Amino acid sequence: MTPPRDPHREDSQQSEAEPAPEHELLPHAALAHESDVQSEADAARRAAPILAPARPAIRVLPPEIAERIAAGEVVERPVSVVKELVDNALDAGASDVRIDIEGGGLRLIRVADDGDGIPADQLELAFQRHATSKIDGAADLLEIATLGFRGEALPSIAAVAEVDVASSVDESGRAATLGLRAGRVQRRGARGRPRGTTVWVRNLFQPLPARLKFTRNPRSESAQIGLLLRRYALARPEVKFSLVLDGHPSLRTTGSGRLDQTLAEVFGRDVASSLLPLPERQVGAGRITGVVSGPGLSRPSRQQCLLFVNRRAVQAPALQQALEAAYRPLMPPGRHPVAVLFVEVPPGAVDVNVHPSKAEVKLLWEADLAEALGDAVKATLGRSPRRPTDEEDFALGATQYKLPAATRRIAESGTLFELDEPVPRLALRYVGQIQNVVLLAEGKGGLYVVDQHRAHERVIYEKLTSEQGASSAQYLLEPVVLELTPARADVLGERLGALESLGFSCERFGGHSFLVRSAPDLPDALDRTGLSDALEDASDESDDWRERLLIRLACRSAIRRGKPLMPVEATALLDQIGRASVTSICPHGAPIVLHFNRRFLERQFSW
Ligand code: ADP
Ligand code: MG
Repeated sequence: MTPPRDPHREDSQQSEAEPAPEHELLPHAALAHESDVQSEADAARRAAPILAPARPAIRVLPPEIAERIAAGEVVERPVSVVKELVDNALDAGASDVRIDIEGGGLRLIRVADDGDGIPADQLELAFQRHATSKIDGAADLLEIATLGFRGEALPSIAAVAEVDVASSVDESGRAATLGLRAGRVQRRGARGRPRGTTVWVRNLFQPLPARLKFTRNPRSESAQIGLLLRRYALARPEVKFSLVLDGHPSLRTTGSGRLDQTLAEVFGRDVASSLLPLPERQVGAGRITGVVSGPGLSRPSRQQCLLFVNRRAVQAPALQQALEAAYRPLMPPGRHPVAVLFVEVPPGAVDVNVHPSKAEVKLLWEADLAEALGDAVKATLGRSPRRPTDEEDFALGATQYKLPAATRRIAESGTLFELDEPVPRLALRYVGQIQNVVLLAEGKGGLYVVDQHRAHERVIYEKLTSEQGASSAQYLLEPVVLELTPARADVLGERLGALESLGFSCERFGGHSFLVRSAPDLPDALDRTGLSDALEDASDESDDWRERLLIRLACRSAIRRGKPLMPVEATALLDQIGRASVTSICPHGAPIVLHFNRRFLERQFSW
């Protein structure tokens, strides 16, 4: 009876060695030619006349040195080694890839797979430059760009690290091994191993002190490797990945082949369950699928906006921009969504050569894809829940929920989100005002605490962004005069029409001054400084000036914190916020409502 096959149990069957821990399997060999180079240099130094200016003679670098420099350029960082090795494992059809990292990859990178393996008689060949099994003839050259370093990964890595490899091509349990130092084969052997390949890379960049200096600390190298593996895991849900960093499991996927499961394994259940699937969009012969976060979930960086083109993690700025644009009115500035997007296009429609490390691609139908992506995201967000429900907890601080903002941007730019069904109203019964800052209310879902300023701000903002805002302009008793710098005056001059549609009638009045005769009807008549500050925003070059203007108007005219409210006023405000398309975040992106549901109370009081 044969024992169950485990590609990662590697019995040390080397006759010459005691069973030893894997990382000590092959002793470090003396770097023979390295010391030659050293003594050559020493000899040159000794021969130089003592007083002569120290201008070294020009000479051709010995090939080993040239090789190392070139390799140092392709193998930039530990993460690039991991990438090449994992690519090789996947190219070999592996369904199980295990990665162990020590010291940020500088001490050890070990990648073990259960793929095809390398035949014993080709093991050395694999480490020769331009040696590859992946290109058959000239016809393949067109597609070559999709491959790693074109037969250069293994030799490049071996030039800048100590490399050992063990590979088996069948179920015999025997694997051929090879040990290289400074790119040269030091030993050949055999050991026990099920089908597949393991590559050990130790003391990376040791021969390149300059490169070592530029490598960041092990912790950030490990973090990069972690991100890389998460991208691989998402691109290949059918492959089982395991990443261990300094002995601690960092990522483990089951290779279930299911995206939802993999998302949970990569992002955790909580995040994964809040991701919303995009409707599939077809663009020419390409298509876009994926999942995105609701606006309640955001991140301070773009690290979790992941894009895969034909299952390769890449960056495509146009698509990233389309994604961000769809979220802009929903997300506080500086925050980014979580998104995992898959673009599938015929291979001919991708140009991966625009970026040396192939991290960025140019897509043939990029503009169309970007537009389709934007549409798909907006459609998805338009359907997502917009207000607290009974299921959501608003534990103070910790899980403040943020929901989508304005349904409509401004009259001009048309409908932002198409709503399939009318948004149900959140009925709140006013209970009282606390410290003149928040309103307590009772609703079907339990207790609600409403920030009076933000709630009012949201109500005003929505009114301003609806068509009605534009048509309710009020003439000012006395026009406001606006003095601008010449540059700002030019910008504002071009926006008079747009301002008119928002309810501002504004005309040029001499050089760089403007007369403002009307303003949108605002509940608490905006003071004159508030008005001119807001219009200053409109003279700003930035593209999002409209939004900033409306947000400022809403903020400046909303009920302040500290203002006592009459019960009728409070009731009216609760009624308005309950009918707003977005109840939960103010236009700045801060929470408006905290919700304590029955379950929350039960937990807190231990009922
Ligand atoms: P490339 O991947 O561009 O062909 P590499 O230097 O990365 O170049 O690898 C050289 C060759 O070694 C590959 O073409 C492949 O035949 C073989 N090889 C490398 N790693 C593995 C692996 N994990 N499993 C099977 N074969 C491998
Ligand atoms: Mg390769």
